[in-house]
Amino acid sequence: MSKQQSDRVILGVCSLAFILSDFGTAQFVQKQELHQLMKDAVKTWGPDLRGLVERVDVSTIAPHAIRRVKPTAPWQTTRVTVLGDAIHAMPPSFGAGANTALRDAATLAEKLIAVHRSEQKLVDAIAQYEDTMRGYAYPILEMSSDHEVANRYQPTT
Ligand SMILES: Cc1cc2nc3c(=O)[nH]c(=O)nc-3n(C[C@H](O)[C@H](O)[C@H](O)COP(=O)(O)OP(=O)(O)OC[C@H]3O[C@@H](n4cnc5c(N)ncnc54)[C@H](O)[C@@H]3O)c2cc1C
Repeated sequence: MSKQQSDRVILGVCSLAFILSDFGTAQFVQKQELHQLMKDAVKTWGPDLRGLVERVDVSTIAPHAIRRVKPTAPWQTTRVTVLGDAIHAMPPSFGAGANTALRDAATLAEKLIAVHRSEQKLVDAIAQYEDTMRGYAYPILEMSSDHEVANRYQPTT
């Protein structure tokens, strides 16, 4: 399996979890209905992957609600900051939560290195990290929460 195919499979599994999340609050959804929904979601996939879903033990299927946080308006920067799911927990449909958390860590680390080199004041550096992070993370948070966009999303190479 090529890297690109592998990425698509991971995204597909996440999307399936996302579709099922629509039913998270439904009290009386039958396991058979959920299984049918899963099978419908993968009906255009290859036979091996379809087989995996078809052979699922139906008794183990359960709806699970997936929640997210809403973007928070800019706050007064202090020496305490946030990154990852603590500020942008999102549905897994884009496979982007951990990736965005890692980007936060890299962005913040870059700012802290500048502080260490006396190029910037600590709180200013953290404020810049927070601005930058809100700039890339909030659009991903919004997009990953839009079922239409999430289901149409095609990963690039
Ligand atoms: C079903 C599913 C599929 C996903 N698929 C993908 C994917 O394909 N690609 C992707 O990029 N992301 C994916 N994600 C999202 C990804 O898992 C998260 O975005 C990522 O784990 C966030 O990392 P984090 O370090 O911010 O938070 P976490 O991984 O939640 O780490 C927080 C840590 O803090 C600890 N903690 C909490 N409270 C305390 C406390 N009071 N004291 C000490 N420790 C504490 C917790 O135990 C935990 O270990 C998926 C998520 C789910 C649920």
